[in-house]
Amino acid sequence: KINKRKYILAGNWKMNKTNLEAAEFISKLTAKIGKEKKFEVVIAPTFLALEKAVDLTASTNINVAAQNMHFEDKGAFTGEVSADMLKSLGVNYVILGHSERRNIFGETDEIINKKIKKALEKDLTPIFCIGEKLEEREKDLTFNVIEKQVKEGLYGIEKEDVKKIVIAYEPVWAIGTGKVATPEQAEEVHAYIRKLLSEMFDEDVAESVTILYGGSVKPENYFGLFTKPNIDGGLVGGASLKESFIDLADIMR
Ligand code: PGA
Repeated sequence: KINKRKYILAGNWKMNKTNLEAAEFISKLTAKIGKEKKFEVVIAPTFLALEKAVDLTASTNINVAAQNMHFEDKGAFTGEVSADMLKSLGVNYVILGHSERRNIFGETDEIINKKIKKALEKDLTPIFCIGEKLEEREKDLTFNVIEKQVKEGLYGIEKEDVKKIVIAYEPVWAIGTGKVATPEQAEEVHAYIRKLLSEMFDEDVAESVTILYGGSVKPENYFGLFTKPNIDGGLVGGASLKESFIDLADIMR
């Protein structure tokens, strides 16, 4: 598949792996895929393991992402972490708006929009997550939900900045359930997101933005998804904790 977009395989570790476990895993990963150039591998450990992860991946093409951050620069926000703090560790991606942040921690589109703007201001690449719940899909509201999340999440952001954002389409019903979207279901939504981007911004933006699929991605189903024209890689949860993530990276080359 050839186009001008960047292909990414990203692993979202969520609240898993101690620092020791993280270091062991990253060492295995770098031993196998350290210098891959055709696509980018991104791993998102917990805040606590970020420094170690940056260290261990320093001489590779593997990038490190945080799983969240606050939109303020500093101050009285107990338990939160700022973009500058992430940057100072050498982190260059941040996952924003994950459905677990939205649904368990009450993040709204407005909060996510502020976070995306802050990440861009600080030169961190946002991996902006969107996706519908099962009941929304069953009521035929998938496109409506996606439209609202994209429009509100990207509100007030300039074209040139939108091009720097990575979008991850993750249907909530497919996350951690083993129920992966079919390549056709995923491609339909990815194509819709691109159409939306061309309406909101222009064709160039729509063609530039990397759009990942996430939700029960595994080596067995990855290839069917990634060969679709509008799917530029994956955001992998459960399977990114296992050696199968290294297998996935292998499949991509
Ligand atoms: P999953 O999670 O691969 O375990 O379904 C994906 C995600 O939440 O990013």
